[in-house]
Amino acid sequence: MISFSILFTTIALCLLGIYALKTTTVSRKQSLTIFAGMLVPTSYSFLKIVMGESFAYLVPISGIFALSALLMLLGIYRYDLFKIAPLAREQVFHSLGDGIVIASAQGKLLEANKAALFMIGPTLSDLGTRIAAEVPQWQELLISGREGAFSFYRFETYYDCSVYAIKTKNGAILGTISLLKDNTEQKRKNDLLQIRAEHDGLTGIYNRQTFIEKVEKRLLKSMQETSFVFFDIDHFKVINDKYGHMVGDQMLQAVVACATKNLVGTDFMGRMGGEEFAIFHVSSSKEETIAWADTLRHQVEETVLTIEGDPVSCTISVGLSFSRTASFDEMYRCADRELYKAKDAGRNCICHTTLD
Ligand code: GH3
Ligand code: MG
Ligand code: MG
Repeated sequence: MISFSILFTTIALCLLGIYALKTTTVSRKQSLTIFAGMLVPTSYSFLKIVMGESFAYLVPISGIFALSALLMLLGIYRYDLFKIAPLAREQVFHSLGDGIVIASAQGKLLEANKAALFMIGPTLSDLGTRIAAEVPQWQELLISGREGAFSFYRFETYYDCSVYAIKTKNGAILGTISLLKDNTEQKRKNDLLQIRAEHDGLTGIYNRQTFIEKVEKRLLKSMQETSFVFFDIDHFKVINDKYGHMVGDQMLQAVVACATKNLVGTDFMGRMGGEEFAIFHVSSSKEETIAWADTLRHQVEETVLTIEGDPVSCTISVGLSFSRTASFDEMYRCADRELYKAKDAGRNCICHTTLD
């Protein structure tokens, strides 16, 4: 019985020693004092077995247990073993708004705070199942014990997740700790800012800068013939002067609505200036594009606003350039030249050119 007791205590001492080596500084001090407290009576029992009863006469057992108890008490009071530190850690762990998930090196979830369970949970096992089924990047990092950061979308919520490895001093991975942040609000704000930065406030289509960037990107990729459609509202100043700028704004919106209705496939449109717009259009042939632009011109002409009982409409002049190889600047310059030709030809018409 005594040998078994020494064996079990030795195992407990070994585990405590390993824990002390791996754990944080505060816990190390706590576990080392308890380790010392347990070591004293264990060594005493061992020596008693080896040296026999003569040893018991030499060192009184009461002194040994008093020393052991003193060491343990020191650990308890000096390092607040059962008081502040673990409680504080527990409270911080559960009261944090961000989710925390602790997993073993093999990806088995060991603990999750309330926020993580609320976000994905509701229980630790549900959390594990849902991560495995719905967030493969996370699952992969948990299983491999690798560090990484990623974002994912789940039930109208955007999450940012960072996975950190928990390592020993020697660099061996013991497990992972994942920090999970609900970033929906921030993401919405960023999306809104991006939309505002990329789009024209009045008409909602791309602004000049974004449109140019998108065309340049497409020209890099495209091998087929593309067309640059540039149009300007005829005598727009007259509408502003006659009905006021508010009506002018409404007319701009009506023209854009009419044009966007006509966009097909990968076409996109931007506002290049006041009442000047451009469309990047891809079609199977020049003839088709010219017919398409003429339909657009005609539909704008047919668009009528009713202002204080009066019908108000406008027309557009269109400049078209076709190319397989030209840059944005070249296509824009040529379409602009054609637009001037259309204005000179009496407006409400289309002029076009091919660059190569
Ligand atoms: P043209 O047929 O030669 O193009 O004549 P136009 O009157 O359309 O051309 P002009 O360049 O003389 O006038 C364009 C007008 O567009 C002047 C400017 O005040 C107006 N404009 C530019 N941006 C806006 C806007 O956002 N809203 C309104 N209401 N008017 C605008
Ligand atoms: Mg004009
Ligand atoms: Mg103009």
